[in-house]
Amino acid sequence: MTTTDDRIPVRAAVLSEAPGTPVIETLLLDAVLEPHEVRVRVQACGLCHSDLHMLDGELPTQLPTVPGHEIAGVVEAVGSAVDDLAVGAYVVACLSMFCGKCAECRAGRSWLCVRRNDLGRLERPRPRLRREDGTAVDQVAGLGGLVDRTVLHRNSVVEVSSDVPPDRAALLGCAVITGVGATLRGAEVRVGETVAVIGVGGVGLNVVQGARLAGARRVVAVDVQPAKLELARRFGATDTVVAGDGAVAAVQALTGGVDHAFDVVGRSATAVQAVQMLRAGRTAWLVGLPPVGEELRLPGLHVLTQAKGIQGLLMGSNRFTEDIPMLADLYAQQRLELDALVSTRLPLADVVQGFDLMRDGGAARAVVTFD
Ligand SMILES: [Zn+2]
Ligand SMILES: [Zn+2]
Repeated sequence: MTTTDDRIPVRAAVLSEAPGTPVIETLLLDAVLEPHEVRVRVQACGLCHSDLHMLDGELPTQLPTVPGHEIAGVVEAVGSAVDDLAVGAYVVACLSMFCGKCAECRAGRSWLCVRRNDLGRLERPRPRLRREDGTAVDQVAGLGGLVDRTVLHRNSVVEVSSDVPPDRAALLGCAVITGVGATLRGAEVRVGETVAVIGVGGVGLNVVQGARLAGARRVVAVDVQPAKLELARRFGATDTVVAGDGAVAAVQALTGGVDHAFDVVGRSATAVQAVQMLRAGRTAWLVGLPPVGEELRLPGLHVLTQAKGIQGLLMGSNRFTEDIPMLADLYAQQRLELDALVSTRLPLADVVQGFDLMRDGGAARAVVTFD
């Protein structure tokens, strides 16, 4: 193992306390790659609600850290064991990085990889990122995309076609794959089925268009904001319902009960509504990340007598090395909507403003772009 201390200065948004606000700092990036690593020049990084949960202290994380996990960029260097990705490759990252060797990976469920946390290297003597004073700086989800240049595990990126511009390609790695994957991979929605989607932000809009891609007959979008409901129609919603006390009855009246209900909000109240919107014998899918401590309170008699199921879906049950290139093809064929997902583009210096927009519920997706 080399002992060189070569470091590349990089500009990053660093979160040092939670609740807190990220601050732009110069960090030092390790110039020496481990065998299975790649160095990526980041071109775009989307802001996701789970980043916001970390800023707000609702999702525990190692600190200090670089938030952001929706990355598109160009490979600048590869480690000695990387023989299937070349310098210059255009890549998208996904937090469902996988070891390829554990029982889940071998069973084809790499999104449940149990050794994912071993793929970083914060615990090793040479962190990928550190401050000048030597403090190691973590990368959220092993990615940490709010930096102009970074080091990632090879199994956290996939090469994509340059047909998709970086600000949109970045979203394939979380919002799009989580939403579209929930319908195609997780729930396996079939042609002619009916679907309700509660919460149509960045992920929910992608559940809507996943249902459209699957050939669903009715796709009912449910949200508190009329502007988001209008946008949902562009993504394939056939009907819209204003969220609240009357939402369950409205969905039942429109559909007679749906085959699949997706809770993309992540609260007990919306999960219960998802269950109540179903026809008997169907399953409600939990997609939105609940805050730590949130407990589901379900109507037990209803669930049993109506023979209903409830299942959590993680990251759209993705095999991202297959799914992200597929999604890029669908975009190039104008069958996947990405353009309307990006509501705001910001430079790294304005990242806090991007999070504020999200907190106000105003943004489908704010994306930080680097030149
Ligand atoms: Zn995310
Ligand atoms: Zn694994």
